[in-house]
Amino acid sequence: MSQSALPVWYHPLYTDGIHPDARFPRDRYVRLLERLKNPVRSQEERTSTESQPSFQFRTPQPIARQHLLLAHDVDYVDRFLAGNLTQKEMKRIGLTPWTEAMVQRTLVLMGGALEATEHAVQFGGLSANMAGGTHHAHRGFGSGYCVFNDLAVCAVHALNNLDINNVAVLDLDVHQGDGTATVLDGIDGALTVSVHCATNFPFRKSRSDHDLAVPPESGDVAYLEAVEEALDLCFEHQPELLLFQAGVDALATDSLGKLNVTREGMKRRNDLVFERAIACGIPVVVFMGGGYAKPLDHTVDAFDDLFTQAGRWALKN
Ligand SMILES: [Zn+2]
Repeated sequence: MSQSALPVWYHPLYTDGIHPDARFPRDRYVRLLERLKNPVRSQEERTSTESQPSFQFRTPQPIARQHLLLAHDVDYVDRFLAGNLTQKEMKRIGLTPWTEAMVQRTLVLMGGALEATEHAVQFGGLSANMAGGTHHAHRGFGSGYCVFNDLAVCAVHALNNLDINNVAVLDLDVHQGDGTATVLDGIDGALTVSVHCATNFPFRKSRSDHDLAVPPESGDVAYLEAVEEALDLCFEHQPELLLFQAGVDALATDSLGKLNVTREGMKRRNDLVFERAIACGIPVVVFMGGGYAKPLDHTVDAFDDLFTQAGRWALKN
């Protein structure tokens, strides 16, 4: 099946639903959108006869409550939707001070992930949500900028409702996918694989099916070796769908991540994932994940690379 443009789910609330005073770098979404709409092409690319990647931006609908319940406790879901979380719960999530649009932002963000997953299952190839990768959210509470766990909801949705027997969640963010590991623990057909920095948050790690903890300051070689091993583990599971948490906070200039990976190393990582999945004919959903470089340009560059590479692989698929 051939794909032309990469379908990318995006909603203005991804940026605007976060308060400008929040510590979270909300501008990364809108800045990335601008980049993808107005790509900076090298001289070589401008004169090349090869077709360049293109993106089809789609606006998500808010996710339905019943889909949140695939991976979350009813009490937590309903209290969040009613605006009744405690101060302590909100503080654990972060993104404070919360805007009035926080509930709606969360619902469209989750909706984008769900629609991207349904698209990948139905049509094959690659799809992406330009936010999310909210891997620190657990069944009954949110944490670390994550309200609900989009990866876990989409994995269970695929297994329960989309006729998928095996789904793999590959988490390459510098932080461990602790919420995803916990929520999907014991669910038949769901495999969780996390490559992360041993000394980054969360300090008390959960147990994924496979955890590849890389020592701090490791750089490209050790990180990419772990990525290759993680890919081997994912594909041994013979997944019919790959959910890729593609956080770029392993970058050397990231203010939180400690892995010291170069921009070139991150690009190599992305190609390793897309190449393997496409060679095996497995649909891939890209979940954006973390990125907190100072200045933010380095994070935007790395996400630009990620989505542009996904767009290129979609053309080859
Ligand atoms: Zn992260």
